[in-house]
Amino acid sequence: MKLIDLHVHSNISDGTLSPTDLAIYAKAKGLSAIALTDHDTISGIEACALKGLEIDLTVVPGIEFSAEYKSGEIHILGYYIDHHSDILEEKLKSIIQNRVQRNAKMVEKLNTLGLIITEADLLGDNPPETILTRAHVATALYKKGYVKTRSEAFDKYIGHDKPAYIPRVRVTPEECIKTIHLAGGLAVLAHPNLYGLTSFDKELLLKELITLGLDGVETHYSTHTKEDVQELSALCLKYKLLPTGGSDFHGENKPGLDIGIGYGDLKIPYDILDAMHNRLGSAHK
Ligand code: AMP
Ligand code: ZN
Ligand code: FE
Ligand code: FE
Repeated sequence: MKLIDLHVHSNISDGTLSPTDLAIYAKAKGLSAIALTDHDTISGIEACALKGLEIDLTVVPGIEFSAEYKSGEIHILGYYIDHHSDILEEKLKSIIQNRVQRNAKMVEKLNTLGLIITEADLLGDNPPETILTRAHVATALYKKGYVKTRSEAFDKYIGHDKPAYIPRVRVTPEECIKTIHLAGGLAVLAHPNLYGLTSFDKELLLKELITLGLDGVETHYSTHTKEDVQELSALCLKYKLLPTGGSDFHGENKPGLDIGIGYGDLKIPYDILDAMHNRLGSAHK
């Protein structure tokens, strides 16, 4: 059976492999297709896709947006986006600008707390175009010896409501879905079981997102049980949504989680891509 992984991060966001090495790694692991879904950036797509062509690996251009939902955050994946789209570029520019300002504020807060790091420390050895997230802040604190683990950094300093936490400027689910559609892509709710919602509230969220044009749901995911997959697949059937799947591979930043197989049991069939093509060929565009 041909297998795929539609949720993969490179070192252009908070993964550790370069976009090129990701393609090589996915191929070596026997996958037929991957989607590169870096946080708030598309700058790794070109290199990943080129390598994919060379080694006969399908590379789906993707992205992962974070959107505000109630008091928390949801993630929305975009697939088959035109990474040359001006509208997408504009949106990303403003999101990235906000992140840069926010990172400066977080560094400042950490410094006043006696944790001396600089913005350059956040980049570390990553490529200059890397989108720097709190994951990079955690790594910098870890490397400087201020925390013993990255999660300690979140628990003590940069987690939600902790002393050095600065919120990002609000991006709504509507904006994310609209941007993805205007860039010609499909919008998919990422890891629906990571938001701490009851089944009732999860369905409510889906219904809200469907009114905004949601195309699919990430039914197959590293931490999903068989029952989770069944529940989410049933919701997809009920609401005519595409089931999709990905591991959320981050290289060494998520130890024990491998591309394609997640924590060992993940299997994402290639058919999913065919269904996505069909939907792109019809519907909303
Ligand atoms: P940001 O988008 O800058 O708010 O950062 C979000 C990133 O931080 C996510 O992609 C996660 O990789 C990471 N993250 C968030 N919360 C935690 C946590 N409690 N422990 C470890 N990593 C986290
Ligand atoms: Zn991530
Ligand atoms: Fe996510
Ligand atoms: Fe992700």
